[in-house]
Amino acid sequence: MKFATWVHNGCEEAGIFSKDLQSVHSFASLGLSCGSVLDFIISPKEQDMDALRCAEGKNGIPANDIMLEAPIPVPRHDIICLGINYADHARETAAIGVSADKNCSQCVYFSKRTARALGHGGIIENHFDINGRLDYEAELAVIIGKDARRVKKENAWDYVFGLACFNDLSARDLQQKHNQWFFGKSLDTFTAFGPYIATLDEFEIPLKLAVRSRVNGEIRQNATTADMIFTPDFVIEELSAGMTLDAGTIIATGTPAGVGAGFTPHRCMKPGDVCEIDIEGCGVLRNTVG
Ligand code: MG
Repeated sequence: MKFATWVHNGCEEAGIFSKDLQSVHSFASLGLSCGSVLDFIISPKEQDMDALRCAEGKNGIPANDIMLEAPIPVPRHDIICLGINYADHARETAAIGVSADKNCSQCVYFSKRTARALGHGGIIENHFDINGRLDYEAELAVIIGKDARRVKKENAWDYVFGLACFNDLSARDLQQKHNQWFFGKSLDTFTAFGPYIATLDEFEIPLKLAVRSRVNGEIRQNATTADMIFTPDFVIEELSAGMTLDAGTIIATGTPAGVGAGFTPHRCMKPGDVCEIDIEGCGVLRNTVG
């Protein structure tokens, strides 16, 4: 099932896509009491799932009549990010000028401040007054479905609600200037995800999903999630050993090689560029640089 948030007739609504992705059903139209996707994740009810499963095969509001937002527009927490999680990207980080553990012996974690996430179709603010190199990073987002504390790897997937495309937008000049990732990855509109969260039952574990990014139609990143160094179940075990990952937590699982700053010369984004993150089973997240 594919959960989303959108604006229709000037009002924000949340719910699911129909199976053919041509229409949506809001929770409210189905008589569900949850007001948002986050509400649904935190307090799922079996009778609500039954109503959604029944609606999924029917036509709802045409998808052409809505404007998507991020599935969780206001995340419960900042995003938990993995810094270097594909070996080929670890090698290209030298070109970006940010130090990292090149041996990839330990998972690199950082936080990405997100007051409001950008959805499919949203405009990426360029922030060119403080940063000249605006970059994309295609990533698989893992959305936690129930509070995870001291979870073992073999049970970790039981705690995952679903998966989504994520663009870890990055200001390379700020990363280099401040010699850390927090500021340069936390500018307004720099968390883009969607178009929807696909529930985990739609995927086979272990994951082997094609991950691609395109800028103006040109493929820049092309990998599979099977190339991750640290898999989501490992990450959930490691983090939850000391940090409760509560329902609604979003984990961005790192990006493969091919980011703009990994090219010589750099191929960062400029106003008007259209950036797409395309992950098998998760749809295509498309945003334009303002
Ligand atoms: Mg990243």
